[in-house]
This record gives sequence, C-alpha cells and structure tokens, in this order.
Amino acid sequence: MGRFNIAVLPGDGIGPEVVGEAIAVINTVKKKFNHEFELKEGALGGCAIDAYGEPLPQATLELCKSCDAVLLGAVGGVKWDTLPGDKRPEAGLLGIRAGLGLYANLRPAVIYSALKDASPLRPDIVKDGIDIMVVRELTGGMYFGEKGRVDAGDMGQAAYDTEKYSTFEVERITRLAFEAAMKRNKKVTSVDKANVLESSRLWREVVLKVAKDYPEVELNHMYVDNAAMQLVRNPMQFDVIVTSNMFGDILSDEASMITGSIGMLPSASLGQGTLGLYEPIHGSAPDIAGQDKANPIATILSIAMMMKYSFGLEKESEVIEKAVENVLNAGYRTADIASSGSKVIGTKEMGRLIKEEIEKM
Ligand code: NAD
Repeated sequence: MGRFNIAVLPGDGIGPEVVGEAIAVINTVKKKFNHEFELKEGALGGCAIDAYGEPLPQATLELCKSCDAVLLGAVGGVKWDTLPGDKRPEAGLLGIRAGLGLYANLRPAVIYSALKDASPLRPDIVKDGIDIMVVRELTGGMYFGEKGRVDAGDMGQAAYDTEKYSTFEVERITRLAFEAAMKRNKKVTSVDKANVLESSRLWREVVLKVAKDYPEVELNHMYVDNAAMQLVRNPMQFDVIVTSNMFGDILSDEASMITGSIGMLPSASLGQGTLGLYEPIHGSAPDIAGQDKANPIATILSIAMMMKYSFGLEKESEVIEKAVENVLNAGYRTADIASSGSKVIGTKEMGRLIKEEIEKM
C-alpha cells in the first residue's frame, strides 16, 4: 500500500471536466489496489486570476511543492486574452514549471491500433500502431540563453539568441531518457545538429558517456533534419527520443500530429526527485467547454504516467492504459476521435466506462 498526496489544479474551460474523470480514475485505482491518495485542490490560470488576481498564487505553488505529484487540467480562455503577457493564465503554466524546477518534458505519442485511421500517415506506415516517447530538455538551450539586439551598421539591426548547454544539463536529461527507455523498449535516439553546432557536439559527447552506464539500451544519434523526416517516413523505428529544448518543442508537436488526436495525448514534466507535473497536451478548448464533449483520455493517461514516474506503481499504470485500450477496442469514442460506425459518447460516459474496465481487471 502506498500513501501519496496529489495537488489537483483543474484550471479553465474543459480542464475541470477532464480532471473530474481523472479523479474518478484515481479513486478507482485507490480502492482496487488499496493505496492512500489524498487530493488537494489549488487554483491556477484564469480561475486563479478571478479569485486571487494572479495566475499562479503563492499558495498554489506551496501546495504543489508539498505534494508527491501535480495533476493539471488546462488553462486559458477568451475572458483573459486581453491581459498583459505576465498576467495571463499561460504565465501560470510557465511559473509552475519553473517554480517546481521541472527540467524534463516527457511526451508519449501513441497510436492505438483501434485509432489508426485517425493518423494522417498511410496505413502501411502506421501498421499496428506507434509508440514513441519524446524526452525534451525544458529549462536550457536557446529559449533561455543570452539574447539581444545590436546595431549592425549599414545592415540595420541584428538580433541573436544563444544555444548554450552545460555538461550537467545534458547529463541529467540523458539519464532520465535512458531510465525511461529501461522501462520501455530499451532504445534511445539522441537528436542533435552535431554536424554544425558546437553545443550539439558537446551534447553528443555527454550522451555517449552516459550511455556507458546503460549497456542494455541501444543508442543511435540522428541529426534533427533527418529526425523530422524519419518521424513521418518510418516512425516505428523510434522508442525514446531525447533532445534539446528547441528541437524537442518542434519534434514533440510533429510526433503528436502523427497520432491525429489531441484529446488522447498525456504529458509529464519531471525534475530532481520524483515530484512531477502531469497534464494533457491540449488546451482548455473553450469551444466545447461545459458541453460534455471533451475527451478525458489524455488526462486519464496522464494519471497512468503519474503512477509510473512519480509513484513507481507500474502495475497500476498498465491497468489504466489497458482499460483505455479496451474501451477503444469496444468501439466507444468521444466526438473528436469518432469515425463511421463508432459509438459516440460524452466525457462522463467515457470516464465511467474506463473506470468500469479498471474495476473488472
Ligand atoms: P486547444 O487545445 O484548447 O483546442 C484546439 C482544438 O482541439 C479545439 O477545437 C478543441 O475543441 C479541440 N480539443 C482540445 N482538447 C480536446 C479534448 N480533450 N477533447 C476534444 N477536443 C479537444 O487549443 P486552442 O484552441 O489553441 O487554445 C484554447 C485555450 O487554451 C487558449 O486560451 C490557449 O492559450 C490555452 N492553451 C492552454 C494549454 C495548457 O493549459 N497547457 C495548452 C494549449 C493552449
């Protein structure tokens, strides 16, 4: 029996609806496996602006720091769109990731065999499904490096952004990727641009050094331009992809797109220790909020990641993933993933079926 505290930040739009179903799944796992999960709710995003005047109240950050894991729905909406950048709901997202020291973003891109028609790729490429994990460095590289503008004389202005990575930063993200690979198919592809960039050459040196500690894991290196092509040409060759902040930003979106369904994709942001932030990759979908139309699966699968990466509960994680797969195999779909012949259901019914499936296993 395990005892864990979970901070729950439902957020805005469809956030509370999908988080509601994820909480029901947590409670089902709690009962079935006899764990103690204590849920503590906090405000983040637009709802926090309305209640406390800021997107990330200090009390929310403290709550998250005191817990073993954080579950986040989504934030944002038209109501807050005219506020200045640092006062907007999305500033709360950046603030919480930085405040918790989360330096790694894990984004699985999975195509379930029942949903392979949703992929924009041809069936002969998708075959029986795809299962890739993109591990992106989250707090270094060009997005955080020195930047500025200088006078370039006759050429007008010049602007620059600096890609800078330390051995320490590369080593910690690489270790995390290898650890993730050990729990999966034991293959790591490190993506860089070592033919051109010095920062990538250091990246590669460090990756090679870390790899020596994981003899069971197969490692290959790929230039980012080739990786972008290989993701659509032969995505089945990948297991774990590890890469820098900027390359990861682009490649994780590309990998998501080949699954064809934003409502299905979970994510985890991890730092030192086991505390992690788990959230669907989609936004607050104001166009369907409050209509029982949102797909709760991305958030439910985020719980599966939480069980595995923050709590070390592999079996519980697998049970949740299997329950989702069984419900999909039985033909049930929310509207976003529906095709002809599928049984279209709402958020609540999808949550209920997944819960029932977990209970049966
Ligand atoms: P979005 O992801 O909210 O929606 C894009 C489209 O996908 C919409 O048509 C929406 O209905 C659909 N969709 C999204 N999630 C779905 C789900 N679970 N089930 C069914 N359909 C789903 O992106 P957007 O429209 O660009 O942004 C809306 C708001 O969300 C904005 O305020 C934006 O800033 C915010 N946002 C927040 C996050 C986050 O909280 N992590 C991420 C992206 C966008």
